[in-house]
Amino acid sequence: MINRRHFLSKSSLVLGGAMIAPRVFSNSYSVQNESFPIVISTWEHGIPANEAAWKVLAGGGHSLDAVEAGVRVPEGDPNVITVGKGGIPDASGKVTLDACIMDEKGRAGSVTYLQHIVHPVSVARLVMEKTPHVMLSGKGALKFALENGFKKEKLLTSERKKHWKEWKKENAKFSNKINIENINEDNHDTIGMLAIDKDGRLSGACTTSGMGYKLPGRVGDSPIIGAGLFVDGEVGGAVATGTGELVMKTLGTFLVVELMRNGMSPQQACEEAVRRIVQKIPDYGKHQIGYLALNTKGENGSFCIRPGFNYALKTADQTELIEAEAWLKKL
Ligand code: ASP
Repeated sequence: MINRRHFLSKSSLVLGGAMIAPRVFSNSYSVQNESFPIVISTWEHGIPANEAAWKVLAGGGHSLDAVEAGVRVPEGDPNVITVGKGGIPDASGKVTLDACIMDEKGRAGSVTYLQHIVHPVSVARLVMEKTPHVMLSGKGALKFALENGFKKEKLLTSERKKHWKEWKKENAKFSNKINIENINEDNHDTIGMLAIDKDGRLSGACTTSGMGYKLPGRVGDSPIIGAGLFVDGEVGGAVATGTGELVMKTLGTFLVVELMRNGMSPQQACEEAVRRIVQKIPDYGKHQIGYLALNTKGENGSFCIRPGFNYALKTADQTELIEAEAWLKKL
């Protein structure tokens, strides 16, 4: 007689007429494919970031190390004014950073409202690897970083301080009621990066100084798992950039990954996630959102609200900056 439990584990289950494939839990995210390794990241500053990630990937390293090494480049570059050191401060002149990281096993770490630390992504990784938590915030995150060897540094450059003072003069009546008015074309360039290593392991990272001149205390989408970044090692990953509030209200990158899980290509999934914003958020046209996605086959896609979002891609034989298609096409 067939042992029933054994029989069920060896076959597909038929429930109510529907076939349900048995789940495979062992390393199903680890596959090889000729398009691997691959790394993609948001905006033009993704180009040097991808180069740093590539050094890890080309040496056969893990995609988690690659995305961390990659996004540390704009974090440490004072000329990139939307990430890490040199980032645009909040309305009170403080540079406050948000970042997160996620690997193919679904492990995740995040920091929000972190001050004085140049590489928040590395603190996020430490949260993921050394604590039972996912997210540390503000003073607690800073204390954790300092206790674990990170050094306190000045993040506000003299250039950004000068611009902030000018902004303050023009916005003398700035109050907590004002938020949307702060948005301009130059202040939303988070770096989000997704990479698959040669063994098919997918990881992602996202790091930002957030919306320029944001209200003190504001945290955006970038450090929120499922908003600024989501990775499922068996399906794919997605990152977001732009006005984080729209992404948070629609849980954008989780949505993109779920759409891919249900059969959409990365391109279709990004388009559908932008369509969701268009359907749900009446003043979407005043904002920019860019989504970037990569599935476990190495296929990638992107979509944005307004023309102007681009992303950097690197494989063994391709190094490119690609213009994303937009919901609101060029006039
Ligand atoms: N998404 C970021 C935020 O809202 C901004 C950006 O993409 O630069 O904080």
